[in-house]
Amino acid sequence: MQDCLFCQIVAGKIQAKKVYEDDHSIGFLDINPRNPGHTLVIPKKHFETILDMPEKEAGKLFESVQKVAAMVKTGTNSQGISIGQSNGQAAGQVVRHVHVHVIPRFANEGPVGLEGILPSKKIDDLSMDKIAASIKSASAHAHHAHKEEEPKSEKKSKKSEDISFEF
Ligand SMILES: [Zn+2]
Repeated sequence: MQDCLFCQIVAGKIQAKKVYEDDHSIGFLDINPRNPGHTLVIPKKHFETILDMPEKEAGKLFESVQKVAAMVKTGTNSQGISIGQSNGQAAGQVVRHVHVHVIPRFANEGPVGLEGILPSKKIDDLSMDKIAASIKSASAHAHHAHKEEEPKSEKKSKKSEDISFEF
């Protein structure tokens, strides 16, 4: 996509501090690093979110992520690695080209996991059962399937009413 910042980095039209490249993915330093060595891994092809990626492409992206994680850990001499990935505005995704954060973590910064960005919530057992059932019954290809299905089958609209959760 022409107006996509990350596509322009892939095309070499915008400079980035590239640290990794293979046939499908590149890795480059985040310009707003959370720690020195904070790297973004992106597919060369444009997909907005991970839900837009064919399964094989997503698999290849995470193969690259694993390699980059090993390189970042060694290259920064860090004690840990956090991996983070956000999809959609509600999740805080800013650049609309799927990207995975590989962040070196150091013992002296305190053991805060990425889960620490959201406080944990008390959810009663019945609601937990309800949401587990809702997730289990959902298609793993819901995003793709949704596009192919006819809009507003009666079953579907009823179901979407059943699964609204207030957190
Ligand atoms: Zn793009």
